[in-house]
Amino acid sequence: MLAFQFVEWQRPGEIRDVPVPEPGAGEVLVKVGGAGACHSDLHLLELPAGSRSFAPPFTLGHENAGWVEKLGSGATGFAPGDAVIVYGPWGCGLCMNCRQGMENYCQTTGLPSPGGLGGTNGGMAEYLLVPSTRYLIPLGELDPREAAPLSDAGLTSYHAVKRSVHLLGPASTAVVIGAGGLGQMAIQVLKALSGATTVVAVDTSEDKLKIAKSMGADEALISGDGAVTRIKDMTKGQGAELVLDLVGIIPTLAMAAQVARVLGHLTVVGVGSAALPVNFSSPPHECAVASPFWGSIPELIDVIELAKAGKIRMLVEHFTLDEAANAYQLLHDGKIQGRAVITPHA
Ligand code: NAD
Ligand code: ZN
Ligand code: ZN
Repeated sequence: MLAFQFVEWQRPGEIRDVPVPEPGAGEVLVKVGGAGACHSDLHLLELPAGSRSFAPPFTLGHENAGWVEKLGSGATGFAPGDAVIVYGPWGCGLCMNCRQGMENYCQTTGLPSPGGLGGTNGGMAEYLLVPSTRYLIPLGELDPREAAPLSDAGLTSYHAVKRSVHLLGPASTAVVIGAGGLGQMAIQVLKALSGATTVVAVDTSEDKLKIAKSMGADEALISGDGAVTRIKDMTKGQGAELVLDLVGIIPTLAMAAQVARVLGHLTVVGVGSAALPVNFSSPPHECAVASPFWGSIPELIDVIELAKAGKIRMLVEHFTLDEAANAYQLLHDGKIQGRAVITPHA
């Protein structure tokens, strides 16, 4: 079968011919409907050799959905043809965090090894081997080609917002820095979980800000000092209860620290790899800084429920496997409006 693979550090991915995997005991083979192209893949491909414990080659694609193709011996609960989304961070399944569905924080493996991101094959191929049916969530009527990004862009944003939802009452403000794939999801999740909060989207691109508005942002601001002034004005000088930095570079972290409020949450999701200076007065007093990674299995079930209820939707652009390299180039250049999704069986 054809697969779009990470073949060498600091080189774009390539199409290769690889064998169709055979599901072993407890495993399941999924016919891929859609595999989202996440900005984390670009960060990974740009790393110097030896920066991770794993090595290429492996198939990219950690935001996957499709249809059950074949169950390995002992794998139950699903039938061939079922539409499913795949939970991505695969842990040990046995430690306390995994047993609570938080395989993103597996205590045995440390960082889990998601298919497509951590050394094992992902979903940018005709078929994806999933280690256990506990990673499959039924999609019902949702189309896997549209739903795939919910497993990361959706889940990561949902988890990042949900942990702060107690701060987002009436007269509260939430700032979303970076209105790309994750940011557009975060805006909708904020509106779905706390209709009362004022959502401010910040981006460098006017196009992204227009989309952010159409997804429910109350205010859309070009990134920079003007945005800081406006957010301070809107919040009577106090700053925002929640600031999500979905970029993570020096200017966005600095902006986040300036617009967060005392007792607020400053949440860094973007893997821009810059550091946030911390001292007695910045970020503001008792503003909690967190760097969440992905989300839990129960949270993915919530995300699918929100999508079924029509409360969140991803703006998806489809590409064939042959076009995957082009999709990543467009993502790199800031030209993907929402999420690029590779559809191997289109
Ligand atoms: P994306 O490319 O779709 O979106 C990034 C957005 O940031 C774009 O709209 C871009 O215009 C905007 N941007 C760039 N520079 C900016 C600036 N200075 N100020 C404001 N906006 C700016 O990327 P994505 O797939 O949504 O991913 C976003 C980030 O989240 C990436 O760093 C990715 O690696 C990371 N990520 C983290 C997790 C996690 O678990 N923590 C999960 C998925 C993705
Ligand atoms: Zn990702
Ligand atoms: Zn575990």
